[in-house]
Amino acid sequence: MMKTREDIFAQIKTNPKIPVLIIGAGVNGIGTFRDLSLQGVDVLLVDRGDFCSGASAASSHMIHGGIRYLENGEFRLVREAVQERNRLLVNAPHLVKPLSTIIPIFNIFSGLFNAPLKFLGLLDRPAERGAVVIKVGLTLYDFYARQQGTVPKHSIFSKQESIDQFPQINQDVKYTAKYFDGAMLSPERLCLELILDGEQANINSHALNYISAEGARNNSIELHDQLSGKILYVQPQIVINASGPWIDITNQNLGITTKFIGGTKGSHLIIDNPTLRDAIGENEFFFENKDGRIVLIFPLFDKVMIGTSDIPIDNPDQARCSQEEIQYFIDMVRVVFPGIKVDREQIIYQFTGVRPLPENNSSTAGQISRDHSIEIVEGENHNFPILNLIGGKWTSFRAFSEEVSNVTLRYLDKDRLVSTKDLPIGGGKNFPSDEKRLQTWLENQQSIHGLPIEQIKSLFERYGTRAENFIDFVSNGDDTPLEYLSTYSRKEILFIINVEKVLHLDDFLFRRTNLAKLGLLSRNLVEELSVIMSSELDWSEVRRSEEISRTLQILQEFHNVII
Ligand SMILES: Cc1cc2nc3c(=O)[nH]c(=O)nc-3n(C[C@H](O)[C@H](O)[C@H](O)COP(=O)(O)OP(=O)(O)OC[C@H]3O[C@@H](n4cnc5c(N)ncnc54)[C@H](O)[C@@H]3O)c2cc1C
Repeated sequence: MMKTREDIFAQIKTNPKIPVLIIGAGVNGIGTFRDLSLQGVDVLLVDRGDFCSGASAASSHMIHGGIRYLENGEFRLVREAVQERNRLLVNAPHLVKPLSTIIPIFNIFSGLFNAPLKFLGLLDRPAERGAVVIKVGLTLYDFYARQQGTVPKHSIFSKQESIDQFPQINQDVKYTAKYFDGAMLSPERLCLELILDGEQANINSHALNYISAEGARNNSIELHDQLSGKILYVQPQIVINASGPWIDITNQNLGITTKFIGGTKGSHLIIDNPTLRDAIGENEFFFENKDGRIVLIFPLFDKVMIGTSDIPIDNPDQARCSQEEIQYFIDMVRVVFPGIKVDREQIIYQFTGVRPLPENNSSTAGQISRDHSIEIVEGENHNFPILNLIGGKWTSFRAFSEEVSNVTLRYLDKDRLVSTKDLPIGGGKNFPSDEKRLQTWLENQQSIHGLPIEQIKSLFERYGTRAENFIDFVSNGDDTPLEYLSTYSRKEILFIINVEKVLHLDDFLFRRTNLAKLGLLSRNLVEELSVIMSSELDWSEVRRSEEISRTLQILQEFHNVII
């Protein structure tokens, strides 16, 4: 039986001594939570907001090696990230899919001399890459992935071949390079499934959203429940500060002064432009402007995502997408597809996040290392060590989590029991490996539960093999499609609310589903969902209307959407 939030609070009150407290449930905190739970360590993971609501929700959705980091000499990072990319394609195939990536190349030699100079630290200036540099980079990239063989090798296409494949592409193109990375369809769902896996691995490990770490006193940490205002005290043996761009602020709350983070903000637009969506097909376009800035044009379901910027910022709470960023993204689409007009009215969603990069003095943000590290602060006013998780890419969260776990296990004098390298995640378990097996899986489910095959298929597409649990629940008793979004049924929503730790309306709209991101919200739908949630979570009418206002305010303030 799943423990309720109240059960967990009661347990903490009776026994506040816990081996590990993780502050921050972005992918790094969550990955570490899962890893340690698998080793039999009891962990409490808390986040002041919802799970995966910080940097981890703001990513470019790329599970990638980061080919351009080769130029900064970050060979270790790229090798690790390529290998982790390949693992995610295998371990979470329902949420991470191979992504064909196209680099349009407008010259042959540019960057040829810059790249080695930058590698030697003699050049600080970014520059557009030419064909030769890209070819060398992609060859090395393939080399790192050679043993896992999960994606095809790169190819280079001539001008004519490029124009034949992408008729709308800028006709000045000299070549295109094509290589494969991974597309992450929903970072938020991947995080949630990792949490559920962690809790399943150890019944004494718990993850709580809307709990913030606010202070340290007499060797205990003070936790505030954002919903009830209750205060809890825990006495951890080890604290893992995984609060991403907020790491220094969290330490300050705990009475410790650090300056580990020098964050940069990055924004993205999601646009509804069928001509552009057609022009890119199922390919991401990854393009470097003359000033060295990166632009990506990414197929996100039937929409197009455009990003991203890399701008130093001091206060992560103030990160918003600026008018200049929006204009820059729109202009950049024109560089690759001059005939396609993107209007501001086509923007259906925008989002911004802050990369928790290490404090640095690089002259350009693109050159700050994307690698990860652990900074340990041993206590003066506290007797627990604090492991601060700095930097890192979404892609390599598993490797980073493993490293953090290993350090933690040494502190606890415990051995590693399980490796997470080949461990499937959530609905990636027993995933049908080909079309024939998928068909058998779907037919089996249909014969057991009798739901329409289309509904089973759509549940499988959303939840992988975890769809089995959904199907079981949905097929038991009456169910109806939503009035204002017939692709979801009432019982599917009830299952999410009850099993996936939904506490606010926006948890469901922004993170358990892609509804907000894909511009599917209407006033009627928000109203309809709030009624379902209200009866399930026992909200008063006042609470229900507060939840609607909160959703509308978040939509407007952070995503520039008014419904
Ligand atoms: C614009 C952008 C694009 C990116 N694109 C990619 C990409 O395509 N591919 C890739 O591999 N990587 C990408 N990254 C990098 C990657 O997303 C991040 O490095 C990673 O998600 C960081 O995760 P984290 O867990 O360390 O931090 P976060 O996800 O920020 O998690 C920290 C959590 O701590 C919580 N918190 C803060 N203070 C407290 C407190 N006092 N108490 C409790 N909780 C607290 C916050 O609410 C937050 O949820 C991108 C990052 C950004 C910003």
